[in-house]
Amino acid sequence: MSNPITSTTSDSPVCIVTGGSHGIGDAICEKFSAQGYTVINLDIKDNLTQSKSIEWLKCDVSVSCEVRQAIQQSVLKYGRVDCLVSNAGIHFSATIEDTSEEDFDRIFGLNVKGAITATKAVLPQMKSQQGGVILYIASDQALIAKQSSFAYNMSKAALASMAKTTALDYAKYQIRSNAICPGTIETPLYHNAINRYVAISGANIDQVHAEEAALQPIGRLGQASEVAALTYFLASDDARFITGSLQVIDGGYTAQ
Ligand code: NAD
Repeated sequence: MSNPITSTTSDSPVCIVTGGSHGIGDAICEKFSAQGYTVINLDIKDNLTQSKSIEWLKCDVSVSCEVRQAIQQSVLKYGRVDCLVSNAGIHFSATIEDTSEEDFDRIFGLNVKGAITATKAVLPQMKSQQGGVILYIASDQALIAKQSSFAYNMSKAALASMAKTTALDYAKYQIRSNAICPGTIETPLYHNAINRYVAISGANIDQVHAEEAALQPIGRLGQASEVAALTYFLASDDARFITGSLQVIDGGYTAQ
């Protein structure tokens, strides 16, 4: 017989992160854990190098029943959810004509529907606590379009809208909601995209990295730890008057 999960209220604040095994999500998990949060990472893949205190629950965030089950299990175990960071997302490069219905459903199934399901799953607990913070890792592409990114651009704009709507609808419960809009951040997602481009174009990889850095007014790419620091600030009480906002962290890219 399996052990029943006992419900007690955790002394430490609880943060649920989707897609927390690698890249930005991993940095967010480590940051919150180092600051004393109990961190639960919902990801399809484990990361064996991640701090052991971070609890990994295998979860495909594009599958609604898996997200609901993982979050309900966490709420039952810890008795509270102080922060949800909806981070899991995939990139896809294509124009509208080259985006099949299946591609569109795949991008929206994770980037948008996954965020909706996770939000709906934490809200009952946050409402009963009269507080909580929901943070969506959107993109600078929520604010500006980039070429050949039809479905990705749209999915990130949808997250920005979701952050605003959730902020308005749940402010009366002292629940805050914001979207974080990173520019180009050096993560596995970035490296995979560059590697694919180099394989197709035959371009020199060092030159492509240098060109990417030169595109940023600040002259370099962003780091996942920098996005994690902003995420942690927005979850903290120091940010208690910040809700419904889009927080850009992009080395000046969208200011041009
Ligand atoms: P990444 O590919 O490096 O890491 C993504 C993580 O999500 C991985 O741990 C992966 O296992 C997990 N994941 C993928 N599919 C999943 C699924 N179906 N269910 C659960 N987990 C899943 O990506 P990243 O660069 O760290 O990006 C994280 C978020 O930040 C994404 O939403 C991305 O769109 C956004 N973002 C990234 C950049 C960038 O330049 N890297 C810029 C702006 C926004």
